[in-house]
Amino acid sequence: MSLGIKEHPDAEVQKNRVLTLDDWQDKWVTRHIAFHQEQGHQLLKKHFDTFLKGQSGLRVFFPLCGKAIEMKWFADRGHTVVGVEISEIGIREFFAEQNLSYTEEPLTEIAGAKVFKVCTDYEFFREHFLILLQHFRPSQIKRNNLSLPSLWSRANIGKFDRIWDRGALVAVNPGDRDRYADIILSLLRKGYHYLLVVLSYDPTKHTGPPFYVPDAELKKLFGTKCNMQCLEEVDALEERHKTWGVDYFFEKLYLLTEK
Ligand code: SAH
Repeated sequence: MSLGIKEHPDAEVQKNRVLTLDDWQDKWVTRHIAFHQEQGHQLLKKHFDTFLKGQSGLRVFFPLCGKAIEMKWFADRGHTVVGVEISEIGIREFFAEQNLSYTEEPLTEIAGAKVFKVCTDYEFFREHFLILLQHFRPSQIKRNNLSLPSLWSRANIGKFDRIWDRGALVAVNPGDRDRYADIILSLLRKGYHYLLVVLSYDPTKHTGPPFYVPDAELKKLFGTKCNMQCLEEVDALEERHKTWGVDYFFEKLYLLTEK
């Protein structure tokens, strides 16, 4: 299916945009979290069974997870879910809203980071959720320019059979995309299925996030290592997008598999 969406010619316009981790944490404090979808993502719902391929016991990764309820969809089926998120507020709200009790421990590999694990009386559920909180002291961020996922690799989170990337690649600062893609690729296990949602809108009208990631850039980031198939292109224009000044807004769902 194709809606014939044209690539925007001025894709470079967002390339120097930078949000710091503080900016993201502020969004959670000031409740600018319209990205959160209370019903979960409809395209994931639609493709859920084909994404799982009837397999059990998968390891599923949610980069930049927020409080995405889709994490629970996988855990409820017995899969192991690992999320990474910078906002402790988001993580705590996720567990509270999903009625899950949890433990928290410091992550030894990364100073200041924590691991939240679900704990219930049901053994099967134990450790099926693991959310890593990245937490850096501001001095650390400035000194090493560590506003990014580059640290995930140090956390030993293992490899994954599935990745659900919605609001993640498109939330990463444009200048960090290469590094983000390298890390994601390093986390994939043989036979992986990586579902990725990107957006198409006029980037001269809205500064992002979410950022516009053109198809050509996607190919550059993942095309040499992965087969890329566009499963869906849907019109996702809502009132809140119109207030940004955009008059079209499409979501594209890509499935990336091993080449
Ligand atoms: N994937 C989620 C959230 C999307 S918004 C969803 O679909 O609802 C992006 C999220 O990434 C925010 O919750 C923000 O706090 C978090 N974030 C941004 N940069 C991050 C980083 N470098 N490391 C971890 N989390 C980050």
